[in-house]
Amino acid sequence: MPELPEVETVRRSLLPLIKSKRITAISTNWAKILINGLPTFQKDVVGAAVTTIDRRGKYLLIRLNNGETIVSHLRMEGRYYVVSDAHTPFDKHDHVTFTFQDGSQLRYRDLRKFGRMRLIHTGQEQSVPALAKLGPEPTPATFDEAAFAQKLKRHHKAIKSVLLDQTVVAGIGNIYADEVLWLSRLNPLQPADTLTKKEIHTLHDNIIKELDAAIAAGGTSAHTYVDAEGNRGSFQDALHVYDREGTPCDRCGTLIVKIKVGQRGTHYCPHCQPLHQRRRPA
Ligand SMILES: [Zn+2]
Repeated sequence: MPELPEVETVRRSLLPLIKSKRITAISTNWAKILINGLPTFQKDVVGAAVTTIDRRGKYLLIRLNNGETIVSHLRMEGRYYVVSDAHTPFDKHDHVTFTFQDGSQLRYRDLRKFGRMRLIHTGQEQSVPALAKLGPEPTPATFDEAAFAQKLKRHHKAIKSVLLDQTVVAGIGNIYADEVLWLSRLNPLQPADTLTKKEIHTLHDNIIKELDAAIAAGGTSAHTYVDAEGNRGSFQDALHVYDREGTPCDRCGTLIVKIKVGQRGTHYCPHCQPLHQRRRPA
């Protein structure tokens, strides 16, 4: 699933391909992807031009010059690509097509059909429950360590599960959760409310650094992910534990193991990331 660095890479690669283009038609062969329904999209999108693309967490916000925003979540396998000629053959997994005035098309491909697009009035992002509840972006300016510590103290769950909770911090999925825990020498099963102040500080800083490094590398192409130009990311070469079970830990040589935490496959080093038996603060 594309996580924050991959969605940000899609944003950056897609913007120059569609910026300022006027939409003349929209069609779909899987209407469920368009949450407001095709007629609403046709009414409110056709005739408008793309001004910019923003991102919040794993959501793309495609801004139009008529005061509307398309909120797009790629879920498991969604991806965008642009063809310069509408006669370019479609893939059977292409489900939504935006045609532009210049004849080019933005196509949305989704093998699993889990992705969704929702039309909202720009500025009313809070009307989308998932966006309204979204935690801070993991940047130095927005991700406050004290507020993060407060949130962790309220969770008795495993730290891995808490990192996946988008209301705690936005944009982390399975890959980066495993990686930041390895970097921070934290066991994925450690209850969130038993982390020490020092551990929280380390984790907080690693979240910011790791996601930033992953964006710089164009994201991780562990599975099918590519950007809007079809380019793979390169951060998979920098992963330490994700998808590396049975291989030696880069720090100590112990073999990486895979377990399930809250139904999610979880990778860690049993030596570097011991589970501490600690009493929860009263
Ligand atoms: Zn290790």
